[in-house]
Amino acid sequence: MKLKIFYLYPNLMSLYGDVGNIITLRKRCEWRGIDCEIEEIKVGKNKNFREADLLFMGGGQDRGQRIVGQDLQNYKEEIKELVENGLPVLLICGGYQLFGKYFKTKDGVLIPGIEVIDIWTIGGDRRMIGNVIVQSSIFGKLVGFENHSGRTFLGEGIQPLGRVVKGYGNNGKDKLEGVVYKNLIGTYLHGPFLPKNPQVADWLIRKALTYRYREEIDLKPLNDELEIESHKAAERRA
Ligand code: GLN
Repeated sequence: MKLKIFYLYPNLMSLYGDVGNIITLRKRCEWRGIDCEIEEIKVGKNKNFREADLLFMGGGQDRGQRIVGQDLQNYKEEIKELVENGLPVLLICGGYQLFGKYFKTKDGVLIPGIEVIDIWTIGGDRRMIGNVIVQSSIFGKLVGFENHSGRTFLGEGIQPLGRVVKGYGNNGKDKLEGVVYKNLIGTYLHGPFLPKNPQVADWLIRKALTYRYREEIDLKPLNDELEIESHKAAERRA
């Protein structure tokens, strides 16, 4: 079996170890004999999102998000349609913000999103920084590190990734963190996210295989001792 992952804008959108998510996905595929190809997607190059089985985008600074937000507009309809049809996506922080309606930065710059999910983000003066614990009904306990000024709000009926146990989450007010929409996950958790939350990595791999091969595929369990240790260490820190 084989998967193709699009790593969106790695030179502009990858903070606080976000590349670790790509390494985790690739390794967990490799350990199971699944061939995993990573294609780096850059500004201005023609891209065919129909070739991808999974999209990943990390966090970025407001300035980088402006450039990327603009480039993504060219693929808005295509990405929207693919997500509706079950394309799995993982978005961290700034990447998460760009898949919503808009991000208004704290300097008042309006960065239009690609409106794949009904969320919007407004920058504030106080940065929300620290270790986070989230309780998710799909994934159980999740851990990570957040650093953002943007406050994200979910539209009516939009499902969060989980509830904040420790930290700020989407906006520091409603105790919600991230989003799950079809096979798309958005979250503020860096750190990186997947190495210490391997159940999410496997969920994405399973969804990507089902998306590609149009059948349910069981994943061979892996020895997650180290992953569980790092999860616990992050939890203690929070
Ligand atoms: N620039 C965005 C914010 O500050 C996203 C930051 C990030 O991706 N860590 O909210």
